[in-house]
Amino acid sequence: MSSLEIALFPCLSDNYGLLIHDRDSGETAAIDTPEAAKIEAACEARGWKLSQIWNTHHHADHTGGNITLKQNHGLTITGPDQIAGRIPGLDKGVSGGDSFLFGEHKVDVIFTPGHTQDHIIYYVADAHKGAGAAFVGDTIFVLGCGRLFEGSPEDMFGSMAAIAKLPESTKLYCAHEYTLSNADFAITVEPNNQDLLDYVARAKALRELGKPTVPTTVAIEKLTNPFMRAKSAKRLGEIRAAKDSF
Ligand code: ZN
Ligand code: FE
Repeated sequence: MSSLEIALFPCLSDNYGLLIHDRDSGETAAIDTPEAAKIEAACEARGWKLSQIWNTHHHADHTGGNITLKQNHGLTITGPDQIAGRIPGLDKGVSGGDSFLFGEHKVDVIFTPGHTQDHIIYYVADAHKGAGAAFVGDTIFVLGCGRLFEGSPEDMFGSMAAIAKLPESTKLYCAHEYTLSNADFAITVEPNNQDLLDYVARAKALRELGKPTVPTTVAIEKLTNPFMRAKSAKRLGEIRAAKDSF
């Protein structure tokens, strides 16, 4: 059994707060900081002491709590440093191909540009019993992908390919609950994809119970996500443009 535990809880209107805790070392990291108070409450409820922040990209709904949490807890902030000055309170800049230790667990940093030019994701191969975890920020969502604010379709196509290369069992912790609106669009792209239709029924049932659809897995997204399934960057760009005006 892994000594790691992951906690997920709603923040702001549709973000998820995420924590990873290592029982052996006592370290706890918040992946992004949508809401400082909710992150502190989630730690407190579990008896975890917040010691790190890992940022995926600079947007305010991912870094807004950085400074408050750093002041309150004296923690270390790891994040992308491709573009200087973007991550409030950054202590340790990392980029794709880097790895670091969380307790005794290896964390791999993967560069996933497209949504922004400084987007990275964090992959922990032994996060779960028999499955890794990837904290994917706003790169991939359940049945969707991030808007191309700064990157090109080629960037996002490469980022989807990088996620698709992870083991199929990898759990993907997305930063927003966008699943049902993504589902309505995905069905217009692939109306005859039975895996998609079956998955959407499951997602609707979860949401009716007030439960998150996150995490998803690499296997599910390969079967259902129109952006991950796009065969070329050009096609991904067309789908993204259609979704932007959907
Ligand atoms: Zn964002
Ligand atoms: Fe976001």
